[in-house]
Amino acid sequence: MPAIDYRRARAELGLAAVLALVGYRPRRCQGPQWRGPCPLRGAHSPDSRSFAAHLGKNLFYCFCCGAGGNALDLWAALRRLPLHAAVLDLCQRLHQPVPWLDGAGPGRHD
Ligand SMILES: [Zn+2]
Repeated sequence: MPAIDYRRARAELGLAAVLALVGYRPRRCQGPQWRGPCPLRGAHSPDSRSFAAHLGKNLFYCFCCGAGGNALDLWAALRRLPLHAAVLDLCQRLHQPVPWLDGAGPGRHD
């Protein structure tokens, strides 16, 4: 399986797009900083603000379940997929080309 350029994937697949895909509704927005219920656990109260996302930095953290990371980590957790599969899945849903590592085309022999 060809390798994904995760650095490019993190740059091209933003947290805002991931949250939009799941229809996330924050309780509070301060510029790029969102707070609201954790999208990983449906049982939270909709008034919860345990989940913190920074759309500019592309990072999230949940003070309730301890989950955290970047947009790719969030999608992997939401879809319960390994990171590689999660990036392919996310690219497909966002209709974006997969950011393969350079040279990972058919001509590569490793
Ligand atoms: Zn959580």
